[in-house]
Amino acid sequence: MNNETLKFVIVGHVDHGKSTLIGRLLYDTGSLPEEKIEEIKEICESLGKDIEFGYVMDHLEEERDQGITIDTAQTFFKTEKRDYVIIDAPGHVEFIKNMISGASQAEAAVLIVDAQEGVKEQTKRHAYILSMLGLSQVIVVINKMDIIKYDKNRFEIVKKDLLDFLSNINIQPSYVIPISAKNGDFIANKTASMEWYLGCTLLEALDTFETKESAVAKPTRFVVQDVYSLDKRIVVGSVVSGILRKGDRIKVLPSGEETNIKSIEEFLKDVTEAEAGKSTGIVTEDKLFIDRGNVIIKDNDMPVITTKIKANIFWMDKIPFNKGEVLNFRCATQEISCSIEKIFRVINSSTLEIIAEDGVEIKNREVANVLIKTDRPVIVENFNKIEELGRFVLGREDTVAGGIITELMP
Ligand code: GDP
Repeated sequence: MNNETLKFVIVGHVDHGKSTLIGRLLYDTGSLPEEKIEEIKEICESLGKDIEFGYVMDHLEEERDQGITIDTAQTFFKTEKRDYVIIDAPGHVEFIKNMISGASQAEAAVLIVDAQEGVKEQTKRHAYILSMLGLSQVIVVINKMDIIKYDKNRFEIVKKDLLDFLSNINIQPSYVIPISAKNGDFIANKTASMEWYLGCTLLEALDTFETKESAVAKPTRFVVQDVYSLDKRIVVGSVVSGILRKGDRIKVLPSGEETNIKSIEEFLKDVTEAEAGKSTGIVTEDKLFIDRGNVIIKDNDMPVITTKIKANIFWMDKIPFNKGEVLNFRCATQEISCSIEKIFRVINSSTLEIIAEDGVEIKNREVANVLIKTDRPVIVENFNKIEELGRFVLGREDTVAGGIITELMP
């Protein structure tokens, strides 16, 4: 697949090498124009230094500020397998808000740790945010291996320290890679620097991750938006994952009743299938009761039907949430009253500090881990399995919070 894109973020303690790594990724993948490299070389030489890849980022940022070449806060490069976008996280608040609201969704994360300094408080907070946001495709890179003379023992110590912490917050990184962003070891290229390391490079690791485009391969979910009765009854909605085909046996949730797809209609044109990402209409063989908010599935792989949801929410309204208040829960096309039964933990989304355990209120821009109780059963799913059914918003009149389901309680 060629126009597939994977979006990821790089997070870590300040000075552990984030900008240098981004510069190195762009350089090693040939994503920087020749004159840009020359310019940066000149700047570095005038400062009496070797080429510093951190400058690439500073440079790009400058241009971005001036609105010259780059118009969004995103940086691009390519491998043979696909395109990549490094999502810039200008601040935690924006990042968390974008992730939870789905405005700009990272599908993977690279957590960077300085080999000499080891795990710092910020490393832990960033890792915690990745876990809160349900990011499961995580790569750890232990950077600045050159400073510690590519020492395997030191690498193992930092790796163990970090993995111990990560396992407490439910993150199992897919890879832990020793790198030097400065020298370009094990980012795009395997170098002779660490013969003891037999694993893959950072780019090889990224290439193994799944993108959102893989939604077609997932279990089928069709969320019902509306039902029109014309000369025939058309059930309109969107295929959020998998694929619907004419003739398929389908099950309507929550009723559990089954029927077959008689036809699939796109703008009243007869088509034979509709895959993930499509909005479409279907006509069923039997005239079952189907309504907005229903979810149509195909196979035995069932979503969860529940009234209790553990989730992480980002509060984005000036008026705080106070325990006891009734809110509106909206997930895909479902809309139901709910209450927040328990506020396990509240976090300052800017400093990532814990504000309260077992809290009673959630204020603007705070993130909270909560237990939600809906008035009627809702059809939901793990966020990493089917994003559209794992993400929701809470509202009064307007939206006041976005959320990601972290635990399903049937
Ligand atoms: P950021 O704050 O995480 O973006 O970190 P920077 O990329 O600005 O790097 C902080 C400092 O560490 C800079 O002086 C870099 O040159 C240096 N640095 C980054 N990566 C490496 C590395 O792999 N080896 C060495 N020796 N220095 C590095």
